[in-house]
Amino acid sequence: MLERWAEKGPTAVRLTLVTASSDGLYSGMIPGLVAGEYTRDELVLDARVMAERAGARLEAGRVTEIDDDAALVFLENGTSLPYDLLSLDVGSTLAGIDDPGVREAVVPARPPDELLDRIGRLGDGSPVVVVGGGAAGIELAACLAARLRTRDRVGGGSNVTLVEGGARLLAGYQPSVASRVQHALEKRGVEVRLQSPVLGADATTVHLESGEAFPSALTVWATGSAPQPLLARTGLPVDRNGFLAVDPTLRVRGRERIFAAGDCASIEGEHVPKAGVHAVRQAPVLFHNLTASAGSRLVEYEPQDDFLTLLNLGDGTAIGTKWGHVAEGRWVRRLKDVIDRRFVRRFQA
Ligand SMILES: Cc1cc2nc3c(=O)[nH]c(=O)nc-3n(C[C@H](O)[C@H](O)[C@H](O)COP(=O)(O)OP(=O)(O)OC[C@H]3O[C@@H](n4cnc5c(N)ncnc54)[C@H](O)[C@@H]3O)c2cc1C
Repeated sequence: MLERWAEKGPTAVRLTLVTASSDGLYSGMIPGLVAGEYTRDELVLDARVMAERAGARLEAGRVTEIDDDAALVFLENGTSLPYDLLSLDVGSTLAGIDDPGVREAVVPARPPDELLDRIGRLGDGSPVVVVGGGAAGIELAACLAARLRTRDRVGGGSNVTLVEGGARLLAGYQPSVASRVQHALEKRGVEVRLQSPVLGADATTVHLESGEAFPSALTVWATGSAPQPLLARTGLPVDRNGFLAVDPTLRVRGRERIFAAGDCASIEGEHVPKAGVHAVRQAPVLFHNLTASAGSRLVEYEPQDDFLTLLNLGDGTAIGTKWGHVAEGRWVRRLKDVIDRRFVRRFQA
């Protein structure tokens, strides 16, 4: 949205970007960072650079409350900001990570600093468990296995297990795609455990609902999106899963001056997966509707039924799928690298 604003944003509007992290990392390349294929700098989406280009004021801080009657957002540092129009694009958190004891026992992939540190301190052949068999969990398991295989060349195998509660990986994709991906993981030494809902974890063990427990020196949490606690605190309308309920123009239901996009928003009547692809594609619609909402006609976000999914397998290859077709190999990895690098460069100095 800031990129568009930099190109053709209205100069008479004062834009403020409030963000809790001024150098976010591009999640699509985090598995590659875990595999050791990129340096951290190569993933930086620089909010400072983007705010400057858009002529926006940057307010570094976390929003803790919103009072739409008073048209104020409140920040963690005790200050507040008034608004005429508000766009909430705060992303999501991980399902189950705030359950008792979980956050202390597991490591998320975003931000990746703790994960990278813990990988560095893992002993040779230590058991690693990735919880969640969606796209992120799959890439992380493959890339962790690749990293540990390379590092522990002398000490033996990678010992990575991917644990999924459902009957197959990649729910929402065709079963044939899921089994190709599972085969690709197993070929790379990742053990895949399906129908194994996780009850909880502690520092050394992952506990399944079945009562089974297995040792884990590092448990990576990749359970999919859940609403940030902030959303409930705002009192704004939410869907049955707790994400902000927006209409196809991305305007929050019944609120004239609040928009929401990306993972934190749920378009009523549409199933839009929580994926960066949709967040990025919503940006032009958000830009148009924020600038037009003074009066002209709003446009609607029309999610495409399918999008290209490219999963980094961490060993110089990737597996990709679209419209039920699957392709695997080095050229798929090169394609992902070109697309990712081109994307990130748009947001760097
Ligand atoms: C390991 C991993 C790999 C992934 N790979 C892909 C992929 O290849 N392709 C794909 O399509 N999707 C991928 N995803 C999903 C993708 O990351 C998300 O769908 C996408 O980031 C959502 O974008 P967003 O702008 O809605 O939220 P985010 O990218 O999460 O951005 C939200 C921003 O809001 C800030 N923020 C949050 N709360 C507050 C607050 N209270 N106050 C102020 N600022 C706040 C955050 O600091 C952050 O900068 C991946 C996810 C993970 C975890």
